[in-house]
Amino acid sequence: MRIAIYPGTFDPLTSGHMDILEEACALFDRVVAAVGVNPSKTPLFSVEERLEMLRESVAGRGLKNVETTSFAGLTVDTAREHQAAFIVRGLRAVTDFEHEFGLLLANEQLDASIKTVFVMPTHKYLYLSSSVVRQAASLGRRVIAGSVPPAVEARLRAKFNF
Ligand code: ADP
Repeated sequence: MRIAIYPGTFDPLTSGHMDILEEACALFDRVVAAVGVNPSKTPLFSVEERLEMLRESVAGRGLKNVETTSFAGLTVDTAREHQAAFIVRGLRAVTDFEHEFGLLLANEQLDASIKTVFVMPTHKYLYLSSSVVRQAASLGRRVIAGSVPPAVEARLRAKFNF
């Protein structure tokens, strides 16, 4: 069985993340979508909220081969816990490349048996990021059309009162 982990901060989950997740579901038998707890970041949504939005969005899309979880340590350790031999990461415009390449090399040194696979989103989501979504919601008090799954839109509306 080919198992992959798709780790991310998902603060919040966007349609770009869901695009990568759906692609991963088609490529692998099982995908572990894992919400990372990063102590150096102060997220807009708690890890519980991010996990809830992920679960609801996965159910909303009817994705059957996804398991959801959260993790605080190294991605490779969480991958091993779930018997995942692959790490899926999304690659948007060229700006992602350097950061993602650095992560790939670090993960490779931590565990060479776990391979990183990059998936590119459809053109609509190439410039979409969680930070753009957060800024639009907090400053403009609205959600950019189609940028987030319905479960996320509802949470943003509740948080920013619009
Ligand atoms: P992290 O803090 O781990 O980078 P993110 O939630 O920002 O967490 O992103 C998780 C993964 O999803 C990363 O590989 C990132 O490049 C990718 N990603 C983020 N937004 C998009 C998007 N719009 N299209 C495709 N991949 C994306």
